[in-house]
Amino acid sequence: MRVLVVGSGGREHALAWAISASVLCDELYAAPGNAGIAEVATCVAIAAEDVDGICAFARDKKIDFVVVGPEVPLCAGLVDKLEAQGTAAFGPTAAAAALEGSKGFTKDMCAKYGIPTGAYGRFKAIDPAIKFIRERGAPIVVKADGLAAGKGVIIAMSVPEAEAAVRDILGGAFGNAGAEVVVEEFLDGEEASVFALVDGTHALPLASAQDHKRAFDGDAGPNTGGMGAYSPAPIVTDAMMADVMKRIIGPTVAAMADMKRPFKGVLFAGLMIDKDGPKLLEYNVRFGDPECQVLMMRLKSDLLPALLAARDGRLDTVDLRWHDDAALTVVMAAKGYPGTYAKNTVIEGVEDADKVDGVTVFHAGTKREDGKLLATGGRVLNVTATGRTVRDAQTRAYEAVDRIRWPEGFCRRDIGWRAIARAKV
Ligand code: AMP
Repeated sequence: MRVLVVGSGGREHALAWAISASVLCDELYAAPGNAGIAEVATCVAIAAEDVDGICAFARDKKIDFVVVGPEVPLCAGLVDKLEAQGTAAFGPTAAAAALEGSKGFTKDMCAKYGIPTGAYGRFKAIDPAIKFIRERGAPIVVKADGLAAGKGVIIAMSVPEAEAAVRDILGGAFGNAGAEVVVEEFLDGEEASVFALVDGTHALPLASAQDHKRAFDGDAGPNTGGMGAYSPAPIVTDAMMADVMKRIIGPTVAAMADMKRPFKGVLFAGLMIDKDGPKLLEYNVRFGDPECQVLMMRLKSDLLPALLAARDGRLDTVDLRWHDDAALTVVMAAKGYPGTYAKNTVIEGVEDADKVDGVTVFHAGTKREDGKLLATGGRVLNVTATGRTVRDAQTRAYEAVDRIRWPEGFCRRDIGWRAIARAKV
């Protein structure tokens, strides 16, 4: 069959890499893709957000199945439009993508259907939001309701800080995404993520993974899209996974069906684990990036039939197999990221890195020009390795990182530290 992957990050490279190995895939395209994806797919210069452009391409090329990576086209209704023109697509409709596109929607759903999460209020005006904050006190969490590229969450340690965040968001700092704020109880505990494939009715848990949000070693510095990840995540035990499926993911799938917004795609739950068990912090409606890269390295089964089954409502017939080995990915980013950084700097040595046993280098912001590999984005490469343990995978990943010559790039040197520290205990 002819498959199109939408997106240009490391997540989409990992998806394209897995799909290109599928027995069902005859031709693979990517829009817009990157230099790494170009090694396994034909890249076409259509932006992931260009819903009409992607629909037209899918129609013209007679694409059989579209796999959408990022949240923006999902929330903009790409899957709705593809399905309406007769192109099968993996991912939620815009109505179901509200689980990521509106934090207020998700909180209301949790309240209505008894899904564990922190107490909250939704506000479109400054004064009632501030009244709510003063009644509750700090620490307290203020969030822009809509998509804010991971920047719309303020953990306020004082009431004035929370009030400033409300004024900022409702004052327009996040544009439309900040037309409403959600003010939320601060939850203390350990964070974990759980991923599941969902077909509208059934949910199939995927392997666990943990990312590293902060830019620098020791979880210091600003928040980023993610600087590395590993799988499995020791905090997500089998018992916890079962608990999350029973108390959070399962009820969400049922709630979405009940609200006539059946969810299909990847449900990615951000959780806070405290003494009462897991509570939902937020949902994403797609694979995490870079968590997807480590999941794809550990997936033994063919990915494509599972994605098709999710789209067709047949996930109850799917059984995914995973390698016992751990996987770990180190993100190499342009110096300055997540702030401003130079573009079009030259990267060398990726081929040497790829030769390290168990290593695959996924590309994010790269392009090839005159035979040279150039960095075009903030997050640029995902050096991904498998190993018997997270520690072994880490050793291999950094051996590969050290073969890459890119003076304008940087990476964290401690990816996996939490899992490794746990293993020592
Ligand atoms: P979100 O995008 O909603 O997951 O928020 C981003 C990050 O903010 C989370 O990964 C947590 O580290 C933190 N966070 C979000 N909501 C809360 C909360 N209610 N209590 C404590 N930390 C939170």
